[in-house]
Amino acid sequence: MAGFFMLELASRIGLHVTVDIYEARDFSKVGPSGCNMCAGVVSESLVQILAAEGINLPPTVVQRGIDSYVLHTSDLDPIAIRTPLDELRIATVYRGGGPRRPSAIEEWSSFDRYLLNLAQERGASIHPQRVVRLDWDNQHPRVTCRDLPSTTYDLLIGAVGVNSGTLHLFEEMGFSFKAPQVSKGFLSELHLGADLVQQYMGNSMHIFLLDIPGLKFAAMIPKVEYVTVCLLGEDINKDMVNRFMNAPEVRSCLPQQFDWCLNNSHCALVGPACHCAPKLNTGPSIQPYHDRVVLVGDCAVSRLYKDGIGAAYVTAKSAVVTAIFFGIASKDFAAQYRPVFERINYDNRFGRFIFLVTVFYQKWRFLRHGMARMVHSEQLQQPQQRLMSRALWDTFTGSTTYIDIFLRAIHPRFLFRLIWATLLAVLQPKRKS
Ligand SMILES: Cc1cc2nc3c(=O)[nH]c(=O)nc-3n(C[C@H](O)[C@H](O)[C@H](O)COP(=O)(O)OP(=O)(O)OC[C@H]3O[C@@H](n4cnc5c(N)ncnc54)[C@H](O)[C@@H]3O)c2cc1C
Repeated sequence: MAGFFMLELASRIGLHVTVDIYEARDFSKVGPSGCNMCAGVVSESLVQILAAEGINLPPTVVQRGIDSYVLHTSDLDPIAIRTPLDELRIATVYRGGGPRRPSAIEEWSSFDRYLLNLAQERGASIHPQRVVRLDWDNQHPRVTCRDLPSTTYDLLIGAVGVNSGTLHLFEEMGFSFKAPQVSKGFLSELHLGADLVQQYMGNSMHIFLLDIPGLKFAAMIPKVEYVTVCLLGEDINKDMVNRFMNAPEVRSCLPQQFDWCLNNSHCALVGPACHCAPKLNTGPSIQPYHDRVVLVGDCAVSRLYKDGIGAAYVTAKSAVVTAIFFGIASKDFAAQYRPVFERINYDNRFGRFIFLVTVFYQKWRFLRHGMARMVHSEQLQQPQQRLMSRALWDTFTGSTTYIDIFLRAIHPRFLFRLIWATLLAVLQPKRKS
């Protein structure tokens, strides 16, 4: 994205720049070597924003358009919530070639490959190389790969994520950069085949609010032939994953023949699934810029448990706008880029609070019942009246900022309706049918 915006904006003002992109992965490969380990949900607001930027996700990249989600809680029937505005869709994508398929399907391409192609079409040179050293050459950043001569640049943009071990190269450049805080998530691709994915998941993302300590977000996301299982939280481990996958609420979303065990990771219905435990950004980096260097995306700051691709877009664009219109000195990034970085960081504080509140909903039945009652009663109302549905949608999809969700959730109208629904739920309890 940074390469694309650099060339796009420079051409608009008649500035000549050359862009080299070093990318160690080959996104056309299936399986782990071509994968950037992400659930691949692009929120509807980001789909729209990218389209306005000229990044129109083609049908071959979008695995499925999601138009609703189903919320599963421990002792209630699943609650289905449609997208608040019917014309909007969440897109699900693969960041690489996707899992190894029983039958090769050639027509799909990956989101990251598509972005690289866009940058290349604008004139970027793509080097399929791993960067192994970063240092300075007469106060200009110098990049070294194993198989290429070192190259010195006017500006180095680091977009290396948190999963590659490259962050220490930036730390060793000696400008006080400290890598961000991370935690471990879990992803699995379950192969059900197109018919069963349609039958069991349809076009809905399934979200689970289960009482598993440390689990902050759990979802099953339908793709074409596969369902992506995504668990985020505080260092997800094997026991948590097995507990989640064997929970009755999760089993009810999968065919009966489906069998799960992380140790020998087999699904009776189909062949092996693939799994990974990638790191996710859970806290900001320190000093993500210097003269002629700026870091963007996960290696700088991201949105808590949500919309990391959106945060990568926002930070990449801001860094490039700073470089093109203001300058590439540390003071320019401090003046222009830093506020954007801080805004994401500040918003995450509200995100932390919102996820703390969801823990109470995971634990306390009467709160879950009150929330469910409020959602059910909203379904016949106009979209703008569906306060709880909207708040849940935005929390789980990352469509808007956490501050926005927080402010709507402390509005007296919201609180009154929630308290009323919770009181009714306590006085007239409903059990799972
Ligand atoms: C389990 C999980 C699920 C997630 N689900 C979602 C989701 O559904 N939606 C969403 O928006 N976000 C999601 N995220 C977050 C999202 O994956 C990240 O926020 C996003 O990928 C950040 O993009 P990035 O470009 O900063 O880093 P990355 O996507 O990690 O990309 C970094 C790139 O740099 C390359 N690289 C690294 N080091 C080198 C080197 N030395 N030389 C050359 N190349 C190098 C890597 O190969 C890689 O391609 C999820 C994260 C996790 C952990």
